[in-house]
Amino acid sequence: MTSRSTEKSAAASSATHTATVSKTPSPDRIRRAPKVLLHDHLDGGLRPGTVVELARETGYGDLPETDADLLGTWFRQAADSGSLERYLETFSHTVGVMQTRDALVRVAAECAEDLAEDGVVYAEVRYAPEQHLEKGLTLEEVVEAVNEGFREGERRARENGHRIRVGALLTAMRHAARSLEIAELANRYRDLGVVGFDIAGAEAGYPPTRHLDAFEYLKRENNHFTIHAGEAFGLPSIWQALQWCGADRLGHGVRIIDDIQVHEDGSVKLGRLASYVRDKRIPLELCPSSNLQTGAADSYADHPIGLLRRLHFRATVNTDNRLMSHTSMSREFEHLVEAFGYTLDDMQWFSVNAMKSAFIPFDERLAMINDVIKPGYAELKSEWLFQQTASTSGSSESEG
Ligand SMILES: [Zn+2]
Repeated sequence: MTSRSTEKSAAASSATHTATVSKTPSPDRIRRAPKVLLHDHLDGGLRPGTVVELARETGYGDLPETDADLLGTWFRQAADSGSLERYLETFSHTVGVMQTRDALVRVAAECAEDLAEDGVVYAEVRYAPEQHLEKGLTLEEVVEAVNEGFREGERRARENGHRIRVGALLTAMRHAARSLEIAELANRYRDLGVVGFDIAGAEAGYPPTRHLDAFEYLKRENNHFTIHAGEAFGLPSIWQALQWCGADRLGHGVRIIDDIQVHEDGSVKLGRLASYVRDKRIPLELCPSSNLQTGAADSYADHPIGLLRRLHFRATVNTDNRLMSHTSMSREFEHLVEAFGYTLDDMQWFSVNAMKSAFIPFDERLAMINDVIKPGYAELKSEWLFQQTASTSGSSESEG
């Protein structure tokens, strides 16, 4: 890969541009900018204090720490450790405290609240219903509890002056054999808070083609689905997800970079699969911080999102697991602004891309873009005009 020098010069020219028009967004503007999130795991985004309280309330005794701050640090360090066992252990604790109706309602409500507080206006949050049955809940009860929580969180956010809409994606686990059952569940609740379906879990040894009956069922039902593919595994995983399974979006899909050659002179050649992904506007649910933790990229500046954005792939920015990656949508954008010199225009491009790729109906997506996202960015982008007015007024006579 020889894309780095090109990325740097792109960032430099962008920085020159922003210096004259003051468009480099501050952390405050990044937070206030309307953002769209397509790839976020419910069991990867709990507040550490909530994990501690739910463990106490539900009698879960396996937490490694019972102090909220120490537990938050433990989650980050375990996820950063490079050990798959420790990384997976983090989810055994969050899933472990999400086994009752009340716990699911609370976690979902806080998820919607936290995202809204961070400036997210639309989110699709995923979870695997089959992982929440240990204490006797049925699959339907799990879905209804999470839906109730999302509605409660949307309501609380509104009271705090934030507007957010949250849709659920039902995930089936790659290593399990319940994918058709979960796909049917997603279909049953499709107009009742669930907007689509997903397959997650270890890619190695569990190709998505094992779940073809679930995908074929969803296609016959005209329903939507995304597949975790091309995160740790390379192009064959992406190819299978698209050409065998028919995924609408790629969960991660970051390894599509393996099918793109960047030459010394900066010219770029796309392979057949990368061309297909770009030509068909297949959305890539990119998760920069998560990818750094799993070793898919060495630094934000080296993350393929810079090149994919430049080549106009349908790239989107996502959090994956906010607790384990100690991140938020604003943090993801702060890192990208620093690495690539992105402006509010770039943020708007990613947000519109994500909204176009959402699983809600077309007219609602369009209304979110035209009535929420674009006006939000226009407001932020116009602020510099008035700041300039404020800083020059009083220092010299007006020109009358
Ligand atoms: Zn994920």
